[in-house]
Amino acid sequence: MRCSCRYCDSGAYMIQAESSRLGCVCPVCGAHCADCLGTNTVVSREAFQAMKRAAAREREAQPGQPPSPHGAPGP
Ligand SMILES: [Zn+2]
Ligand SMILES: [Zn+2]
Repeated sequence: MRCSCRYCDSGAYMIQAESSRLGCVCPVCGAHCADCLGTNTVVSREAFQAMKRAAAREREAQPGQPPSPHGAPGP
């Protein structure tokens, strides 16, 4: 799997790291990537939790059925 760098705007394809660290390295900015290993799940999980919290807050902020000024619609 080849990843394009998301740390810099070069959009360069990252190359496989040849050091002891697994993953790949951006040849432009030198950023290390572990996404291709499937082990970098901390950030995504936090983002998921934040998304869930934001969604819940949005639901709470929304008013329920507003009371009809004309009362219940009759026949
Ligand atoms: Zn980069
Ligand atoms: Zn990668």
